[in-house]
Amino acid sequence: MLTSAPSAQAAAPAAAVSAPITTGSITTTATPVLPALPQANALAPATVVAQARASLPALPPIPPVGAAAPAAGVPQSATALPGGTAQNGTAQNGTAPLAAAPVFAPAAPVPPPSAYRSMEVDGPYIAITFDDGPNPETTPKLLKILEARNIKATFFMLGTNAAAYPDVVRAVAAGGNEIGNHSWNHPQLPKLTLAAADKQIEDTSAAIEAAIGKKPLYVRPPYGAMTPALQQHLVQKYGVTMIFWSVDPLDWKIRDAQSIYDQVMKQVRPGAIILAHDIHATTVAAMPRVLDALIAKGYKFVTVSELIAMNKPGAPKVVAALAPAVPKKKTRPAPKPGTTPANAARPANNVNVGLY
Ligand SMILES: [Zn+2]
Repeated sequence: MLTSAPSAQAAAPAAAVSAPITTGSITTTATPVLPALPQANALAPATVVAQARASLPALPPIPPVGAAAPAAGVPQSATALPGGTAQNGTAQNGTAPLAAAPVFAPAAPVPPPSAYRSMEVDGPYIAITFDDGPNPETTPKLLKILEARNIKATFFMLGTNAAAYPDVVRAVAAGGNEIGNHSWNHPQLPKLTLAAADKQIEDTSAAIEAAIGKKPLYVRPPYGAMTPALQQHLVQKYGVTMIFWSVDPLDWKIRDAQSIYDQVMKQVRPGAIILAHDIHATTVAAMPRVLDALIAKGYKFVTVSELIAMNKPGAPKVVAALAPAVPKKKTRPAPKPGTTPANAARPANNVNVGLY
């Protein structure tokens, strides 16, 4: 008897448990209340629990997943109880039939995010991306650096450059790299009319398709400038996904290999999307050291498609638009011929913008 003052004799467990358990003023038979902390020589808690559980009636078996819903009026659990079913649907032993297990309709599939900045991945996978190209001088040099390390990157190209250098576009694709759409001539898309924004996307996709035979699946808005409404429109109209970034070495602004190296190493994380520009010679010159250091850290490079495929469901850092601080009015250095047009519009205050 597990009373409040159990003695050393309390070792005779069998008898003690079958009798009703008393804990001071409460006596109960059906559902035993587990006793307070056991005395040194009391029954081991696990034994008490096991014995108490043994006194409970057996739970009806859980119907297998997808088991057919029980026939109307025939309680699921009833058929599982020993002795079968009485005519009126109640269990032979007269107890009220247990309610049938609810059958839930499969949840509607969650549409994949329409924009990413980085992914949640189960390993050291990252994607490196290069914008504003292709450039007939710097891009082929970069392709050799990537090829030597068996790295597949993603290139967000301007339509003007893709149309001007289709051979370089094909060389990028031939190296197993992915190609995305970065607009025709680098405007702030939200500042354009819808028709003009559509044309920027359509003409660029057409130029890339003309070079490699397929349209890009991904769009990176210039400057990261995008609004939820325009994003939704472009995603629905062209079936594309917006790709932003989570690592930014500001390589267009700080044309310094050491600074690029420092920024990448500081910001990189598994699942990161690294932004760089294949049109800048300083960026291309910085890449061997940056890539080797990332490889040495154990990072594995994949294309944007592959990184999305690794994304854990429901965690992607999905953003409608990036909202970096609006930069002070600084004239962006005039891009070399065949690169980003100098007349690329500066960001306005009401549109979330990056500087890329
Ligand atoms: Zn750009």
